[in-house]
Amino acid sequence: MTIDLPTACCTAAIFRRFTIWMSVHLQCSQIRPRARCQQCRKRFDLKRRNKKFCSEKCRKQHWQVSDRASHRKNSSDSKSKRRDNYELFDSILFLTERYRFTPTVEREAFIEDLIRSARQGAPRLRAAFTNPFFLQTEPGDLFRKVLRRNHLDESIVNIADRYCRKKHGSSLRQVCLRKT
Ligand SMILES: [Zn+2]
Repeated sequence: MTIDLPTACCTAAIFRRFTIWMSVHLQCSQIRPRARCQQCRKRFDLKRRNKKFCSEKCRKQHWQVSDRASHRKNSSDSKSKRRDNYELFDSILFLTERYRFTPTVEREAFIEDLIRSARQGAPRLRAAFTNPFFLQTEPGDLFRKVLRRNHLDESIVNIADRYCRKKHGSSLRQVCLRKT
């Protein structure tokens, strides 16, 4: 009777140690390698060795962004239109940045130059200045979101439109399309 107790204790201790060891071993063998998503930078379980994104959404977003950066897109109809829009986006952002860094006293001349070029037929400028899409100012609009992402409140199109309404009494589009 006196021997039974320590033996039982000993067996229990060994068994307990064994179960702990087993559970640790099981947990370790279940740990998956993890990787960082190249789009949202969150960490995710790596199920396939060469996976780069945590989700389909991130994968698509990533390629859309890099496509825009390199101006590469397939040339099916809607896609080439979308590419044109992306390129216009980029041009407008570029001009807006330039406007922002133009000294205040030279800004009017800068705007005048742009409007003159658009009127004389500079194709992209004309397209950007006469497309109502780029005048959208609703907070949910796509272009507005792009501006926000670039820390801009409004684009050169909005600025030029306001200028035309004040100076010429008509919209930017009307001024650009006017024959005389
Ligand atoms: Zn992600």
